Amino acid sequence: MMKTNIKESEIQAMNKSFRILNERRKKLLDNSQTEKLKKQVKKIREYSINHLDDLKELAFKRLRDNGIEVIYASDANEALKAIYGIVKDEKYVAKSKSNTASEIGITDLFKEKGIKLIETDLGDRIVQFTTKKKSSHPIGPAAHLNIGDIAELLSKKFKKHVNEDPQEILNLVRQDVLEEIESCNVGITGANSLAAEDGSLVMVHNEGNISLVSMLNTHIIIVGIDKLVRTIEEAISVVKLETIYATGKTVPAYMNVISSPSKTADIEQILLNGMYGASRVVVVLLDNGRSKALKDCPESLFCIGCGSCIVTCPIYNILGYDFGYNRYLGGRGVVFSRYLRNEQICYDSGLFTCTLCGQCTLDCPLEIHTNHLIQELRCESVNSGLFKDKHRKTAQKIKRNGSPFS
Ligand code: SF4
Repeated sequence: MMKTNIKESEIQAMNKSFRILNERRKKLLDNSQTEKLKKQVKKIREYSINHLDDLKELAFKRLRDNGIEVIYASDANEALKAIYGIVKDEKYVAKSKSNTASEIGITDLFKEKGIKLIETDLGDRIVQFTTKKKSSHPIGPAAHLNIGDIAELLSKKFKKHVNEDPQEILNLVRQDVLEEIESCNVGITGANSLAAEDGSLVMVHNEGNISLVSMLNTHIIIVGIDKLVRTIEEAISVVKLETIYATGKTVPAYMNVISSPSKTADIEQILLNGMYGASRVVVVLLDNGRSKALKDCPESLFCIGCGSCIVTCPIYNILGYDFGYNRYLGGRGVVFSRYLRNEQICYDSGLFTCTLCGQCTLDCPLEIHTNHLIQELRCESVNSGLFKDKHRKTAQKIKRNGSPFS
């Protein structure tokens, strides 16, 4: 078993939160409408991944036609360089929850450059106050923290006593974010889906923070090429399925569709940007290993990021955020880390920790065979000499005695 740093109290809080989520999802997951949607989204994702290059080209054209600037970043460094070019004169930048932003290490860049990154998502903001700054679920990053931990973190942060009262915590963080966001000109978000034909990005959220962040003067959207689909209708089907599996609700509180900067032609049909929303919208289209995954392991790109696979994973329920890579958690994160980073990171993320039980496939709306993908990566890892000494000893015993036992 891999070494773990997660505390027992964090595991307990996470398990409790997963139990509640499971209970809420139960009825919806057994529903024939959900089954229908699953089949539909599977086809959408298959088409998209099989036509990724064409969709990429089309998205470039349509986004630019719509007045959106598009920057293609082949890796994390290129993305960070492009983002820094836009924010370099800012003191404060607002951000919503984004696994892709976290993937490229945006927090470290801003820290290094002395720009304050204002996390607007409640869970993400709470996680930022912890020493490890680890998230335990893609949609509910603070699932591993109980109310006592949260109140203690906020008491330290705000240097005053915060009660274990959810409403008091919400009010406090809300006030703090709203005050800080007033100093921002630039907002950074991710996107849940990108419709190439329409040149539109779809973002879902429950807190309303993406609406706030995307209304700032400049809106930067970081999105992986794996989020591409053909049309806005397809994008909405994808995010609907993601919402069902991630939250147990059929629709999120908010669904923002961004297809151009804010504009008006109310004065003599003269087109002006930046009426109330962003006057400049920049999309950073990120590869960062996804093209390699497309070649070697296309199935890994079908993922819609719902986080369902970690909820019932027996290993994730013991190890939590220590099993997986960055914000890509559990076995799916282990697989993804091979392409986003390298073999060593994949090994360190828990390549040999998975039980290969296949529970994640049963719970995945796309039925991704993560256990098979992990098996293939294990072979590659062994061929590269990345395996544990106990594996070598067991292999020797099998060769010598025909059995793994002495
Ligand atoms: S692998 Fe499947 S269950 Fe896991 S996050 Fe992706 S789509 Fe959801």
